[in-house]
Amino acid sequence: MAFTAAMTSMAGGFVFAAYGLTRHGDRRWSSFSLSGLSYGLGLLLVLHVGTLTPVLSVVGGNLLLAVAAMAIHAGCALLTGRRLRPAVYLGFLAAYMSGALYFLYGEDSIGGRIASASLLRAPLFAHAALMVHGLRRVETGTGMLLLEAVLAGWACLLLARGLGVAASGPIRDLIVLEGFHAAYYTMAGLAYVAVVIALLLIDADRLTALLGKEVSRQAEALGTHIARQIQTQDDLRRSEADLRAILDNMPDIFYRTDREGRLLMVSRSVENLLGYRVEEVLGRDAAFYHGVPESRAALVAALEAAGGSIIDYELQLRHKDGRALWASTSSRFYYDAGGARAGTEGVVRLIEERKRTELFIRENQALIQAMLDASSDAIMLFKADGTLLAVNEVMAERFGRRASELTGSCLWDMFPPDVAKARQAAVGRVVETGLAIHYLDRRGELYLDNSIYPVPGPEGRPDKVAVYSRDITAQTLAEAKVATYLTELERSNAELEQFAYVASHDLREPLRMISSYLSLLERRYGSRLEGDGLEFLAFARDGARRMDHLVLDLLEFSRIDRKGSPIIAMEVEPALTQALRHLAPAMDESGAAVELAGGGDLPWVMGDPDQIIRLFQNLIGNAVKYRAPDRPSRIRVSWRRQGGEWQFTVADNGIGIEPQYFERIFRIFQRLHTADRYEGTGIGLAVCKKIVERHAGRIWVESVPGEGSAFHFTLPAAG
Ligand code: ADP
Repeated sequence: MAFTAAMTSMAGGFVFAAYGLTRHGDRRWSSFSLSGLSYGLGLLLVLHVGTLTPVLSVVGGNLLLAVAAMAIHAGCALLTGRRLRPAVYLGFLAAYMSGALYFLYGEDSIGGRIASASLLRAPLFAHAALMVHGLRRVETGTGMLLLEAVLAGWACLLLARGLGVAASGPIRDLIVLEGFHAAYYTMAGLAYVAVVIALLLIDADRLTALLGKEVSRQAEALGTHIARQIQTQDDLRRSEADLRAILDNMPDIFYRTDREGRLLMVSRSVENLLGYRVEEVLGRDAAFYHGVPESRAALVAALEAAGGSIIDYELQLRHKDGRALWASTSSRFYYDAGGARAGTEGVVRLIEERKRTELFIRENQALIQAMLDASSDAIMLFKADGTLLAVNEVMAERFGRRASELTGSCLWDMFPPDVAKARQAAVGRVVETGLAIHYLDRRGELYLDNSIYPVPGPEGRPDKVAVYSRDITAQTLAEAKVATYLTELERSNAELEQFAYVASHDLREPLRMISSYLSLLERRYGSRLEGDGLEFLAFARDGARRMDHLVLDLLEFSRIDRKGSPIIAMEVEPALTQALRHLAPAMDESGAAVELAGGGDLPWVMGDPDQIIRLFQNLIGNAVKYRAPDRPSRIRVSWRRQGGEWQFTVADNGIGIEPQYFERIFRIFQRLHTADRYEGTGIGLAVCKKIVERHAGRIWVESVPGEGSAFHFTLPAAG
């Protein structure tokens, strides 16, 4: 019976081994296999205790039985995913082996051995059953239940057997084990078969679960994949629609051609920009909308030259209505999967506005250059660092260059280092302060009047300067010449005045002599003279008298500048009253009346009081003298403020003056009448002019012949 059990368990062990082998090193199966084999072998050794040495049979057999128990426990631990604990096994093995050794030499060798072997193994099996029970909550199935039942049953059996053997006393003969022991061995052998079945069932369950899991995982993955595929298709459709919307709404034209240049794709903006409908242009050679047919070929050539991609390439396109339009394209070649050129694609933008601006700027630049060149001043514009932005020809000529060559070069390189440094400093000051600088510069023979102006940049701060340099050599030389002439003139004038003064002064002496001898002649010999003699004498006396007047007037004229009193703030009213007092006899005689019509008091002026009296006296005296014979003389003196001056007018209703004499009458000795009609020397108005000019004023006349004259003059106001 025990043999049968040993065989059965070994068979179970073999089944485990065979099955384990097909599972390529599954350690659970290896453990169960080891257990079955060592149990069977151990049992055989124990059963052959009579034929073998006791050590080999008892110790070896029990060792194998212990190994079998440990292996089945280890198998369960692995099955339930527990970690193996070698220390526990070593402890178990030590206890088991010490029991085996003890009973080897003990009195009741078989009974004690069986009892200890059973009792030691029982907890191991019970623990294994517990582990399986724990796993069963997770893994339900008949296999698990069977395994748990087998292990638990076996544990109980071992316990009962151990206790039974211990209680019933020694067993003498192992070979003929019967009854309870025979049943135990049979059950132990069958237990291995049951374990095999349980394991197979568990594996089948696991496999089924695993397969189910895998199938559902695969199904899920397939579902996800399909969903993703659908999503991708949707995304693709959406992004295609988006792309189309972008293309259709973009202000520029997007185009794509095939290798031969036929349009494959064009954005809807072609309708707005070039007047063609999309359907109209698709499939056509793109050259049709180029301004000139060769323009498309030129674009392709430019693309080739630029390595297949070009940015902001300018070209002319043709609108459907025939207008040529400026455009700019950023294009590139695109390639097929094999790397061969498949066509061209890119974006086209109309740049009419930009072209117009460019043209405007070019024209403006040309205009500015023309204006600069038209100037006789040397002009240049440069950045604060000296980079020349614009130069006119006059300036360029000073540097011995052409204007076109100078633009862009550095100004400081054109001067000797010390001059450059000084100029740089001056420009730096202008840029920093924002204030212009003016200075005179003498360079060799040249006199230059230079101005440096700050020019504000885009942010409002000066970052450039404009230099204007006027060649004032001729002007300076002329001014110097004029100054020389002026000095010369002043000197000769002074000499002349001196001469006139001396002459008129000294002339009076012989004149007085002539006059007094003429009087003497008349007194002594007048009675003896008659007819012509008396008349000639009268002529001679008249000539002498007129000459005396002339000399006196000349003397007065020459004294105006040389002998004048200082110019002071003075009231005009007393001067005018004084003049009228001097004229009173003549006015009474002619019945002339003077009216003051200034609308207020007579003003204060800056003047030489004596000369102002003289001025009024001469003008009012003339008004009395040149009165119209047929009407009484009416004289009107008026005044009005003109800025810093007072303008006076002496108007009469006399004979008037022809306009052609308006200038002439102010010159010395210029008279419009002979002495027999109106007495005079022709110096009065010249004196007036000289007086007014000494006071920095002006004098002029307005007149209507036969109606009257108005003499105007100005004097500086006092305060
Ligand atoms: P004179 O009175 O001694 O000739 P003036 O120099 O005072 O010299 O005047 C120059 C000339 O201007 C006069 O000869 C006269 O013809 C003209 N003239 C001056 N005042 C008047 C006036 N109020 N009306 C008309 N003619 C005048």
